[in-house]
Amino acid sequence: MSTRREFLGKVGVLGSLVTLGGPSWADGGSAWATAPGPEDDQGGSPPPEAYELPPLPYALNALEPHLDEQTLRIHHDLHHAAYTKGLNETLKKLAEARKAKDYGNVQQLSRLLAFHGAGHLNHVMFWENMAPAGKGGGGKPTDRLADDLSRDFGGFDAFVEHFSAAAVAVEGNGWALLGYHPDLRRLVVLGLKNHQDLLLPGITPLLICDVWEHAYYLKYQNRRGEFVKAWWNVVNWKDVARRHAAATRSSA
Ligand code: MN
Repeated sequence: MSTRREFLGKVGVLGSLVTLGGPSWADGGSAWATAPGPEDDQGGSPPPEAYELPPLPYALNALEPHLDEQTLRIHHDLHHAAYTKGLNETLKKLAEARKAKDYGNVQQLSRLLAFHGAGHLNHVMFWENMAPAGKGGGGKPTDRLADDLSRDFGGFDAFVEHFSAAAVAVEGNGWALLGYHPDLRRLVVLGLKNHQDLLLPGITPLLICDVWEHAYYLKYQNRRGEFVKAWWNVVNWKDVARRHAAATRSSA
């Protein structure tokens, strides 16, 4: 029980999300953006002065033809960078408000913290969730992740259909998410609005698909379903399985 309490204390609190500076999974950090490795001590590390845009873990053209180079460049270098900047600026404004004891704007700053913080973290995970097709990307999960997807969704193909439907059905901008909930002890699929709305509190995310128009419009225009279908070719199941193993181990 104490293990689970400790685990729950580590997720969902933005102040504890400390390791966002690079694409490595091995250096600890949060359960949201970066899956912990087996040796990691998740506690005790201080937060950085400012959060950084991590480099992509592959070349800009490595996900072609499914995700095109120009979209990936704009998406990572401009869109993700803007969320990272927004997160840092919001934290700075909150620090200034504390210093001045001026909380007139705290509601708006809280909203911006949730929006930019989730925007930054979701993208960190999105990049790590992908790999070049045939070189770590695509195929099917194996072992325990495959078993649990079958248990909770009735099979891998049924899971893919459910997740794809959730992605296509997001109204406006948002994400599809596969997560493990330590209290429910099951995998669930959610369709998020913006970056964080309609989220189930306490969930540990495993796989996330960006369906904001900026993720696909240059190549797919309004054909979001076509983009989502192509995206399965670059899903890095090894990364998803690592997150699943960490999440289920932590909640045992
Ligand atoms: Mn995006």
